[in-house]
Amino acid sequence: MERKEFRELTSVEDARKLVRNIIIQPSTIVLPIERSTGHITADDLFSGVDVPAFNRSIKDGYAIRAKDSYQASEPEPVRTTKIGSIPAGCADRFFVNDEEAIEISTGAPIPDGSDAVIMVEQTSQEGDTVLMYQPVYIGENIMKAGSDIMKGERVLRKNTRIGSREIGVLASIGMQEVPVKELLVGILSTGDELIEPGKELNIGKIFDANSYAIAAAIEECGGVPKIYGIIPDNEKLMEDALNRAIEECHIVLTSGSTSAGVGDIMYKIIEAKGETLTHGIAIKPGKPVVIGMIDGVPTIGLPGNPTSALSIFNEFVAPIIYNSLGIAPSFKTKVTALMGTGIRSGGREELFPVGVVRGKAYPADKTSGAITTLSDADGIMEIGAETEYIEAGAPVEVTMFGNVRSPDLMFVGGQCPGMDLLEDITGLVFRTLNMGSSSGFTAISAGTTDIAAVNMPDAEGEYNLPIIKKMNLQDIVLIKGYKRDVGLIFRSDTNVSSMDDITDLRMINRNRGSGTRALLDRELESLAQKQGISRKELVKSIEGYKSGSKTHRSVCDSVKSKKADLGFGLRVAAEEAGLGFLPVTEDEFDFMIRKELMEIDEIQVFLKALRSDEFADRLPSGIRTYERTGEIISPF
Ligand code: AMP
Ligand code: MG
Repeated sequence: MERKEFRELTSVEDARKLVRNIIIQPSTIVLPIERSTGHITADDLFSGVDVPAFNRSIKDGYAIRAKDSYQASEPEPVRTTKIGSIPAGCADRFFVNDEEAIEISTGAPIPDGSDAVIMVEQTSQEGDTVLMYQPVYIGENIMKAGSDIMKGERVLRKNTRIGSREIGVLASIGMQEVPVKELLVGILSTGDELIEPGKELNIGKIFDANSYAIAAAIEECGGVPKIYGIIPDNEKLMEDALNRAIEECHIVLTSGSTSAGVGDIMYKIIEAKGETLTHGIAIKPGKPVVIGMIDGVPTIGLPGNPTSALSIFNEFVAPIIYNSLGIAPSFKTKVTALMGTGIRSGGREELFPVGVVRGKAYPADKTSGAITTLSDADGIMEIGAETEYIEAGAPVEVTMFGNVRSPDLMFVGGQCPGMDLLEDITGLVFRTLNMGSSSGFTAISAGTTDIAAVNMPDAEGEYNLPIIKKMNLQDIVLIKGYKRDVGLIFRSDTNVSSMDDITDLRMINRNRGSGTRALLDRELESLAQKQGISRKELVKSIEGYKSGSKTHRSVCDSVKSKKADLGFGLRVAAEEAGLGFLPVTEDEFDFMIRKELMEIDEIQVFLKALRSDEFADRLPSGIRTYERTGEIISPF
């Protein structure tokens, strides 16, 4: 297949204009109110009843004639005769005469003849006599029929988004069904590599995130998603699925297969079946977006990368849904944040995913985009095409994703269950990017994290401090954390009794840059010395040494599933996985904090939790605090 070049990209402004002109007529369906949340009313809705339907008491007390109470006072109460009692929901008719009272509950109908309710607190009762200690005025404590909603009143306008309040109103006027607009939006996720969540993840597969994320986004806009599932990268199958979706839906979205690469054919299908309005918008991420029209059905090819797909959805699909439903976009929170670190851009307009932590915006990409940034991003920042550089500290505007609670503290570095416990104890929300200790050092020196979680030994086995000094990280303090048992992890069917066994078995190593891998290298160094060979030679004889699993848990998974026989990592991970553990050494897991943050509340709360007895007590097996836990070291 020939490669298509994106020579003429549509500008963002033109693409926005194009999208503004697409308006689709939705259908009307009738839904029971309990299923109508998030939908848009298709008509004005009027009340067929008065609410309340009768005059009712808003207090527990006595229904009386107000004038009987006018002389009442604390020292000289007025006496009336109690002639009955009206509970809520009572259908019996009562009549109150002069100098009579009827006991009445909140919500019960006011008896004829009565024009006020005196609260029970302003009375006392002696047998059948009620003593009133205060005067009440006419109408006091009575809610008049129709005073809440009057019969014939319009309670909801057409094009109202239905939420809890609206459902409450509809229920209170007795409406059980509601006419709403139905704008069906079909979603097709294309890609041979995709597999449904819940199924087994075989080699080379990734879970289909887009079907579900886009469906939720459609619902958030008031549309009705229809998931068509995973379509393989096959022209015929894609075409069939697309045909079906176009037949059944008002709008069709596809994800993946939009770039001009071999095997990416969606745009060709749209081209062949309908009209391509644009293929390629000058925006990052998600340049290869296709907008087309097939048989009057807008068909939009979103990029496959989930973050890009959602960004492009928000930018170019959401407006079509809103305009077609006749509603204004739901409220999106925009916040002004300060750029936490300098970033480069330029050339094209960019939708840049950022995490927002305590008013600072950080780029939410773990590495160069290969990994989804979805879970680390709180919102999107727009960067103009002419902007080449945004410096640290510059104010930027971020459009937040839905109702996200942005985190209180940001961590980059090593991964440890102890941090989950710290998060629980502090009650704060942590954002942790588990990328290994090395990344922790890099991130804290670049100013892109509050805290680096590190467990990196130097050649002498001293943890973290020598590296801070070597990197000359002037603005950093080191907080000593805790110690962890580290050793060999294996299945019970494997014979492991010492480090020496490592050369006889297939191992799964941790990722480069992780402190645990560095620690293993130290151990291998001494093993090599013992054997009188170089570490290089030794490592050559270890099958699987070059592998790189990203977490302790995934090391255990590999051992458990027999992909490997041996791993090196935490006792707690081994025990949780039901695997054998041979302790080899212990490491020191520490935290580096930017000096200027030491006084803020979140850091103080963090330090308090780290030093607490509760933390020491609740740590899982193989992780322990010691006399240095919480010690603050200023290396410079
Ligand atoms: P594509 O646009 O098909 O070239 O896909 C771009 C990237 O996004 C690839 O790494 C795909 O594996 C990934 N991707 C495509 N579709 C999905 C999906 N539905 N869920 C998660 N990732 C996807
Ligand atoms: Mg693909």
